[in-house]
Amino acid sequence: MARKIPRDDVALQRIDILYRLARDSAVREPDLSASYIRLMKRISTKYRRRLDGEIKRNICASCGRILLPNTATAVRISGSNGYIIVRCGCGKERHIFYKRRS
Ligand SMILES: [Zn+2]
Repeated sequence: MARKIPRDDVALQRIDILYRLARDSAVREPDLSASYIRLMKRISTKYRRRLDGEIKRNICASCGRILLPNTATAVRISGSNGYIIVRCGCGKERHIFYKRRS
């Protein structure tokens, strides 16, 4: 997580720990990783803590799986439109823009 976590904020600490566990187990145990992500989202909702941008970018909005280059995702570049296409195993695509749209 990029932002600094306050020492007394237990909810943010749990979110950070669960994200790291989910990321580390994404390749070997995808079901366990998905359960970590579900728990992390529930904590974020209950204690009203916003998820970090890095975490949001790396989680599929549809199925909740973690999107990393070494998991079952396809990454392509659409050069003419200026974005990176990240496709999850469930078929959902995310477009990450790297050019400013005018
Ligand atoms: Zn998905």
